Amino acid sequence: MALRGGRGWYGRMVAAALGVTAVAAATSVWTAQAGQPGGGSGGTAAPARHAAPRTAAVSAEIAHASDGGAHAVNITIDDGPDPVWTPQVLQVLRENGVKATFCMIGPEAQAHPELVRQVVAAGHRLCDHTVSHDTTMDKKSEAYQAQQILEAERQITQASGGVRPLYYRAPGGAFTPYSRHLAASHGMRPLGWNVDSKDFERPGTAAIVATVQRESVNGPTILFHDAGGDRSQTVAALRTLLPWLKQQGYSFGFPVR
Ligand SMILES: [Zn+2]
Repeated sequence: MALRGGRGWYGRMVAAALGVTAVAAATSVWTAQAGQPGGGSGGTAAPARHAAPRTAAVSAEIAHASDGGAHAVNITIDDGPDPVWTPQVLQVLRENGVKATFCMIGPEAQAHPELVRQVVAAGHRLCDHTVSHDTTMDKKSEAYQAQQILEAERQITQASGGVRPLYYRAPGGAFTPYSRHLAASHGMRPLGWNVDSKDFERPGTAAIVATVQRESVNGPTILFHDAGGDRSQTVAALRTLLPWLKQQGYSFGFPVR
């Protein structure tokens, strides 16, 4: 595939051209929604009337902190949406009155727009988790990185009915300075994590619970998954962990922007 690039200058030129197309497409989506030119692609101050703060450029530093303060945690849910597991995760969150951040794969969002809208309607936030979930994208061309981020942004925004992702989380944490700044210029704060629940490996519900309980002192942003296989252990672990976190005195917030 040309976008995977790297085969001499011709491949890079093709990839670059496609990357520019992706940038232009993403910008025009923003323009159509907000009714003003150029606001999605640069740091220039836009005319105030339509300048929703969430579309303004944000910091390009990787966020870990919570906007809920020193005793808040951020629940983050990656790789969906998934028609089996996302509704179950949403139900546990709802039962516990917890808001979370969902890092979505663009084509999955496009395939399940009703789930994206449920996530938004419940008050959760969206995060761009790229098109292909390529954990080696930090080794790829800038054009490829741009395509992965901006195409997913477009797909997620379209699926949500116009609600934009507020964060960008690189697959496997494969950030680059380029991708961080690109995402930030589109209003998506790069998002890291402090606690990996390791739920992806399906070690058993008790092990997921124990990992989070042990490591919750490491920082506020906790990583879970609602896709990529059977996530029943994740659902069960959240059912235990959310009340436990409250008992420990934690509240729940969103990652800082
Ligand atoms: Zn992921």
